[in-house]
Amino acid sequence: MYVDSHCHIDFEDLAAQGEALFERMAAARVSHAVCIGVNLENIERVLTLARSRSNLFATVGVHPEHTEGEEPDQARLEALAADPKVIAIGETGLDYYWHKDRPEWQRERFRTHIRAARACGKPLVIHTRDSSEDVIRILAEEQAQEVGGVMHCFTENLAVAHAAMDLGFYISFSGIVTFKNAAQIKDVAASIPLERILIETDSPYLAPVPHRGKMNEPSYVPHVAAEVARLRGISVEALAAATTANFFQLFRAAAPNQAAAC
Ligand SMILES: [Zn+2]
Ligand SMILES: [Zn+2]
Repeated sequence: MYVDSHCHIDFEDLAAQGEALFERMAAARVSHAVCIGVNLENIERVLTLARSRSNLFATVGVHPEHTEGEEPDQARLEALAADPKVIAIGETGLDYYWHKDRPEWQRERFRTHIRAARACGKPLVIHTRDSSEDVIRILAEEQAQEVGGVMHCFTENLAVAHAAMDLGFYISFSGIVTFKNAAQIKDVAASIPLERILIETDSPYLAPVPHRGKMNEPSYVPHVAAEVARLRGISVEALAAATTANFFQLFRAAAPNQAAAC
């Protein structure tokens, strides 16, 4: 069984698929998926979706690319995260690729998310783009190792992976690892400890080979698993079992029953 640790199935095109999406997930042996919150405007949709199925979880946070709209303070994040279906705070982090302006504001908002995660004892889902140095520094300064989390859609180098793992974080690979030109990411996937690896789709974006360029969905996560397994020279079954166990290890406080069921 596989877990898609990061998807956006509340987004319009995926939400429009209805039951068929979950049927394809089951057929592909994807047992669980995490629907990621990206702003306060979509959070009710994310929570409603997660509550509607036992194999879906949710997260609460404001994506670094989301720079307008309502801004939650720490108390608001904590209140939303109290929902039993919420297993993490995020996605949060820093994105200096799309947003070079107001970096200090981005960093303050990131700190607010880390403080909320520590206050409610739930891990973090981290997005980083052109910002890994500041992300690692702020995680350390804010003692994020107390809750840990996941570096989602990992595209950094091995040194960044180790710095994150030193803070208790897991490394999640998306469909990018299946792309031909992703040499650095393939190297990381081949060499970090198996017990720190998660897999994800980040759907509807970044569909893995052989679906590259199409709309992505949770049922494609086995393609990510197959590539990471190939790079490591292990069976896809072993990779699936390890990443599923890792997922429930990281989120054990928030998803204990499901861990038992697996
Ligand atoms: Zn992201
Ligand atoms: Zn995402």
